[in-house]
Amino acid sequence: MRKRIGKRLLAAAAVIMAAVCLFASACATAPRKNTAAFFDYFDTVITLTVYSNDAALVKRAKEEAEACFSRLNALFDIYNEYEGVANLASVNRRAGETVKVDPDIIALVSAGKRYYETTRGALNIAMGAVLKLWHDCRTAAEADPENASPPDPAALEEASKHCDIDNVVIGEGELTLLDPAMSLDVGAIGKGYAADRAAEKLDALGAPFMLNCGGAVLTNGKKPDGSDWIAGISDPAGEGGFIAEVPVSGAALSTSGSYLRCFTVGGKRYGHIIDPATLFPAEGTESVSVLVPGFSAMDADALSTACFILGRDGGEALVSAFGGASALFALPSGERAYTSGFPGR
Ligand code: AMP
Ligand code: MG
Repeated sequence: MRKRIGKRLLAAAAVIMAAVCLFASACATAPRKNTAAFFDYFDTVITLTVYSNDAALVKRAKEEAEACFSRLNALFDIYNEYEGVANLASVNRRAGETVKVDPDIIALVSAGKRYYETTRGALNIAMGAVLKLWHDCRTAAEADPENASPPDPAALEEASKHCDIDNVVIGEGELTLLDPAMSLDVGAIGKGYAADRAAEKLDALGAPFMLNCGGAVLTNGKKPDGSDWIAGISDPAGEGGFIAEVPVSGAALSTSGSYLRCFTVGGKRYGHIIDPATLFPAEGTESVSVLVPGFSAMDADALSTACFILGRDGGEALVSAFGGASALFALPSGERAYTSGFPGR
């Protein structure tokens, strides 16, 4: 009897040992989580997470992502020109002339014209003249908050006469702004476009990744252990917490919020997303997050900005007309509104 118990114990111990060994070897080979952050592009923080034990692959992923953001940041910059690069700042400065530009500028501007149609003019990348007045007031307010003021309504009205998207003419590798007083501002879609291009490079390396480019998040599937990637949506009230934690495996999520870039005059907050109908900051929501299935951070980026401008009703209609997209609206009342299909609804 004693002998038999001993044998059983030995057998059980052997099974446990085998399980422990299996677990240990699984842990040893489980892909490691690697993270990187870039601070010099698109006026935002970009973070990359890659699961892999291959140090060379991880290094390449970081280098390729950074090279992509660096190149597109220079091309899409509307404030600075760079030696030997015809970027959007050059196009704006040379409004009235035809400028030879990189295919990525043509692709971005073509997308901008399409979004103007799908959003019925709410998203207008040709609104640079109006957006510049707001940008200048915000910059001045940051430097001297005591003397902050919104732009003069007459100046806004005058600038709005130079925002006709039909005056943006795309040729074979060249771009013409027909109105010399107009300018482009691609702040609503540029970072999403760049995230998509970086994601294509990262996906080709074959490792699971998550990219977060200033609130535009995308992934290429699930995590190696089969669980979902989760993106937190910040509380627009600024309490530091999340209002939702959203699975974003194989999808793109973008959040637009007025609390992110704004200035205050006499207790009134002026955000950075401008309603073309009023030429003043849109105020219907505190933040809007849009989830799009597949690999399109630019669609999510465009839709979240447009939904912010259109507000809950117009935004819901826009999102439901856009195959598979869904949205979460954080309203000024503190209420949350979801369109069908948004996780956790
Ligand atoms: P996002 O952070 O993606 O929501 O984009 C906000 C940025 O989009 C602003 O900082 C402006 O550069 C730009 N923007 C603001 N209002 C509009 C608008 N109505 N149409 C196009 N771009 C806009
Ligand atoms: Mg956007």
